[in-house]
Amino acid sequence: MTDRIPKGCELCLKGAKLVLFVTGLCDRWCYYCPLGENRKGRDVVYADEILVENTLDILLEGRAIDAEGTGITGGDPLIRLNRTLRYIRILKDFFGEGHHIHLYTNGMYASKDALLRLKEAGLDEIRLHTTISNREKIRDAKILGLCAGAEVPAIPGEESQLKDLILYLQSVGADFLNINQLEFTPQNAYQLKERGFDLEGSAAVRGSEETAHRVIQWAKSEGIELPIHYCSSSTKDNLQLRMRLIRRLKNVIRPYEEVTDDGLVGNLLVIPERFTPNELRSLLMLELGIPPHMSRVSDDGQGLIIHRKFLESALKFSPNSRVFYVKEYPTGTRERIAKTPLRY
Ligand code: SF4
Repeated sequence: MTDRIPKGCELCLKGAKLVLFVTGLCDRWCYYCPLGENRKGRDVVYADEILVENTLDILLEGRAIDAEGTGITGGDPLIRLNRTLRYIRILKDFFGEGHHIHLYTNGMYASKDALLRLKEAGLDEIRLHTTISNREKIRDAKILGLCAGAEVPAIPGEESQLKDLILYLQSVGADFLNINQLEFTPQNAYQLKERGFDLEGSAAVRGSEETAHRVIQWAKSEGIELPIHYCSSSTKDNLQLRMRLIRRLKNVIRPYEEVTDDGLVGNLLVIPERFTPNELRSLLMLELGIPPHMSRVSDDGQGLIIHRKFLESALKFSPNSRVFYVKEYPTGTRERIAKTPLRY
């Protein structure tokens, strides 16, 4: 067995992969499906955390993270094959042929024709989460010249099925097997509990990691050459997401914001007592010549977000203002992490 990891995973670990969620529709209905309720069963498109309304949203998010590749996922992207093909072509056109695209599918609709069309559109790598009855789709993808492998969760108690899959993948010359740690999410927690699975740490299913490690050890002892890669939930959350946000931060920081020590976006929010935020902003621009890009009125209209070096000036016009330090994730949706009063 080799430790080589698929190109798609390499870029993902660097935070250089845009996650393009093509649809929440999927006909497999796995009991452990981790999809959130805003996505599962809904025909929606997301680029990372951004709900996509038009193709430009996808390209802008790719630019924001300096994407070197895209991971297309769902749901099952092949339920919306034409949409998926269109996105592959657009991504290759815009970011260039070298932009690496991998796709995850359960394989239910991975007909030879669909695989061929994906290949012709420019897909580089396909990861099939197949059952025993449709795993020949992996062989079909290989025959068509795609980099092809399997991506499955490590389910405690299903070691023999994993070993069987490994032998199959080896026999058809597949390129890799990715084993994911099984995770609890609000959506699958009831189903997992009903089947007797327990929580370990913050989200992992107890025994999932051990299952993956035992199977990998077995593959080594059997001299299996197939590259097998284990992806833990902490790798996904702590490393991939963090790396992506670090890449994003430098591109999306606004002139009046700052980068905090913990890699978040920090800004000063002034709630004026004498003027409306808009009036205070105008005063700062007209009376002191502070450039417009050094402040903005907050989304709720209640405060003025201003660069640190102009805070004192703002307080001269409105001395009893309240001031907060706000920290946000540098995602497209800018989730607020903390709002600390500095002057109240
Ligand atoms: S195949 Fe994937 S997306 Fe579909 S139900 Fe199973 S885990 Fe969810």
